[in-house]
Amino acid sequence: MFPVHRIKNWARAHDANCLVSSTSFQQENFLKITSIEAVPFTIPYQHPIVAASGVLDSAEHVLVRVHTDEGLVGIGEAASRSFVYGESQASIVAAIRQWLEPALIGADPMAVEDLYERTSWLVANNTARGALDIALHDLRGKVTGMPSWLLLGGVKRPVRVTRILTMGEAQEAADEARQAVAESGISSFKVKVGTGLRSDVARIAAVREAVGEEATIYVDANHGWRAEEAILALTSMAEYGLDLVEEPCPASDTIGRQRLAQHIPISIMADESAPTLADAARELTAGSARALSIKTTRTGFTESARLVSLAGALGARTLLGSQADSMVGTAASLAFGSAFPQVASEPGELDYFNVFTDHLVTNELVVQNGVLIPSELPGIGVEIDEDKLCHYRIDNR
Ligand SMILES: [Mg+2]
Repeated sequence: MFPVHRIKNWARAHDANCLVSSTSFQQENFLKITSIEAVPFTIPYQHPIVAASGVLDSAEHVLVRVHTDEGLVGIGEAASRSFVYGESQASIVAAIRQWLEPALIGADPMAVEDLYERTSWLVANNTARGALDIALHDLRGKVTGMPSWLLLGGVKRPVRVTRILTMGEAQEAADEARQAVAESGISSFKVKVGTGLRSDVARIAAVREAVGEEATIYVDANHGWRAEEAILALTSMAEYGLDLVEEPCPASDTIGRQRLAQHIPISIMADESAPTLADAARELTAGSARALSIKTTRTGFTESARLVSLAGALGARTLLGSQADSMVGTAASLAFGSAFPQVASEPGELDYFNVFTDHLVTNELVVQNGVLIPSELPGIGVEIDEDKLCHYRIDNR
């Protein structure tokens, strides 16, 4: 299935280098990074995406491409979220060009752990570093001819897909859920809440009625409630069978969040309050969060794997989250999740691309029977459609 000759050649080069000297490690025979490209692109959504933390009407993302001296190219996607991480398309491009590319030119792209640490001095620029790490893992797959899920030590597991519903009127959300069931067999739904208690409860009730008792429903308030409001809201919603509540109130209110966790029968999932390993450790050990949203776009594969281990050690759940990823970011997330049983066994937010008006890849992802199946192609398993990239890139190159 995989081009074994390429693996053997790579292994032979590796052995040869090890034989040169075990004390002064030589890397002359290795692949080298020659440039790192950051391409800003904008694709309109079919309708505005509304959350308690902000409104978006188009994906303003950046495609990161790592080029090598052998012509192989790895890809990753960064999604800007000014109101969550303080990053913009322009800042992601600048971070790649000004700091990350110079730090990695000439390095061996296979050394993903080493390269992640080599750029760890750069604070805050989560999705710039995350996309770069994914591009390096994609490249690793292309060098070896293996899909990323296999290189991460996993098997090809389908992942159940969660549809994130519009935060509109109750009937609108219910109709969207019904359509997702009918068209794609989706059986897991995330409902955005956090604007008004009455409308939030009405939306949950309508969605539950639309999708039936067996479907999974969880809610995301994006810090839209205060802790006391969250206790009231979630107490009212509990009868509709919620699996989780994501970011009910600001994590900075440590005592409020712990009090909330003690008063509701629903586990709290940390998302934007846990964008790094250190933040996740704080949230999980503080006793408030009992689940983590794993977003590979902000923690790459390297730090995401550490998050899964941390959560596993503390008995917390891990679900794939979406930063409104296009099919590039979604393919990466799917490949990562498929590799880890504790992630693949949970529903993942893997079809946000349904709100995009177009897609950048030649081999589009399709949700069938409520699941996505990872590709057997090397790396993250998708290829860029250059004509479409040319159309949607905004840097006029
Ligand atoms: Mg969230």
